Amino acid sequence: MIIILLLILLFSGILFLNFRFNSGKKKVEEEWKKANIQRLNPGSTKSLRILPLIDWYSSGIDLKAEAGVSYLVKTDEISILFDVGFNEKQADPSPLMHNMKQLGISTGDFDAIVISHNHPDHVGGMKWQKKKSFSLTGHQIDLNGKAVYTPVPMIYPGLDPVCTKNPAVIGKGVATTGIISNQDFFMGRISEQALAINVEGKGIVLIVGCGHQTLPGILKRAKALFNEPIYGILGGLHYPVTDSRIKIFGIKIQKIFGTCRLPWKPITMGLVHENISILKEYHPGIVGLSSHDSCDASIKAFREAFHDNYTDIMVGKEIDI
Ligand SMILES: [Zn+2]
Ligand SMILES: [Zn+2]
Repeated sequence: MIIILLLILLFSGILFLNFRFNSGKKKVEEEWKKANIQRLNPGSTKSLRILPLIDWYSSGIDLKAEAGVSYLVKTDEISILFDVGFNEKQADPSPLMHNMKQLGISTGDFDAIVISHNHPDHVGGMKWQKKKSFSLTGHQIDLNGKAVYTPVPMIYPGLDPVCTKNPAVIGKGVATTGIISNQDFFMGRISEQALAINVEGKGIVLIVGCGHQTLPGILKRAKALFNEPIYGILGGLHYPVTDSRIKIFGIKIQKIFGTCRLPWKPITMGLVHENISILKEYHPGIVGLSSHDSCDASIKAFREAFHDNYTDIMVGKEIDI
């Protein structure tokens, strides 16, 4: 009797999630169609340097790695902390603060914080995600004077984060793509923004958090926003085909959560190669995949496809564009 009841519960749960997934996908499509996308003219920057502070692979034994993202993005006029890592164990100091110290970076080295999306591996942990906030370490440090741009309304003590739902210029040569939403089977609606930086003489470099927007979605949005060609893309694009960096009781979480696909239709190497072909049409000068949400097989496929234009994203290894 109990087994039958459990089966009924499970079946109705799946039915509900399936219904929510399908209607959510339709709403996401409508949102895309209704989005008021006008060309942006952000100006340009001569220099662009990206220093990964948190990712799955690190370039030194004194640096900590974890399944999260935090990059220090430096242009001629503005420095941005893009996401604030995972800090899964809520350590204080967090892996991010540890790495910043090792690399000689302080909070004085950035003017603004951009949060790609409100997921634990980007806002400094589950605790802060639930509060619709973020934290660089186990407690919220004083960030007075920093500009903050979030994809959904978020809070931080003493700060007034700007919700950049729509594409906007946030500094000379620097823009946000605005949110591109997607529907996940288990997690529901995910609204994520990416950075777009116009490098003089080269074009737009996209910096992405988890890539729930999908690579084709991000490219389509960037193409609609800018007159300049797309020069490159760096960051998370969510291709956990053979493995997942986050595992709970041995379950490969990233293969099921955050794919924005039906759980019985996971991301395949076929899809990875399809996406590579789409990106190749842009002849990018720089491509780098975050290892925090992509498996080694996907990274290998990207590396082989883009040869010398591929760069590894590793904590402590600065990417100079
Ligand atoms: Zn992520
Ligand atoms: Zn995510």
